[in-house]
Amino acid sequence: MSGFNLLHLITKSQPVTLRSCSLPTGPCRTKKTWPVSFSQEEIRKRLTPIQYHVTQERGTESAFRGEFTHHKDDGTYACVVCGASLFSSKTKFDSGSGWPSFFDLVKEESITLSDDFSYGMHRVETTCSQCGAHLGHLFDDGPKPTGKRYCINSASLAFQSKDTASSTSSSTATGEAASSSVSNGKTEF
Ligand SMILES: [Zn+2]
Repeated sequence: MSGFNLLHLITKSQPVTLRSCSLPTGPCRTKKTWPVSFSQEEIRKRLTPIQYHVTQERGTESAFRGEFTHHKDDGTYACVVCGASLFSSKTKFDSGSGWPSFFDLVKEESITLSDDFSYGMHRVETTCSQCGAHLGHLFDDGPKPTGKRYCINSASLAFQSKDTASSTSSSTATGEAASSSVSNGKTEF
């Protein structure tokens, strides 16, 4: 019942090719390079299947299933792929959407916005400015003072507790792979 059915879709279905637009049905992003890049092989090993799917294949986790949806501890939410700080727990709010929601960023430039016309909708996609990981979408119906709602997949985030480096976030959904890869959140560049 968890996101594990996605696992089978992802792991072995296709060889990794580096052509920019190899998928006939997938979104075709204009080629862009990011300051930090990782080999697909390394990322695939390090991330859980859902983390890989969301951040690398622009997927979306099931609503109310992500580990940070109702997470309320003080700290910072970082990109799960590269460790860049993205959101503070101070700007997290309960939007009722089923995904972690924030009304502001730690740093304006930490996220890159782009148009997303998938699924017949126009939405604003949010991407990590460091490594290009897909995070979620930005909407204009958030609370004051910004009016913004960053609707972010838990699978894109690594939580860094305010007090210590030891994260209090447990791996409720994804097992040991998550705790080992997420606990530190930092990556050597
Ligand atoms: Zn990143």
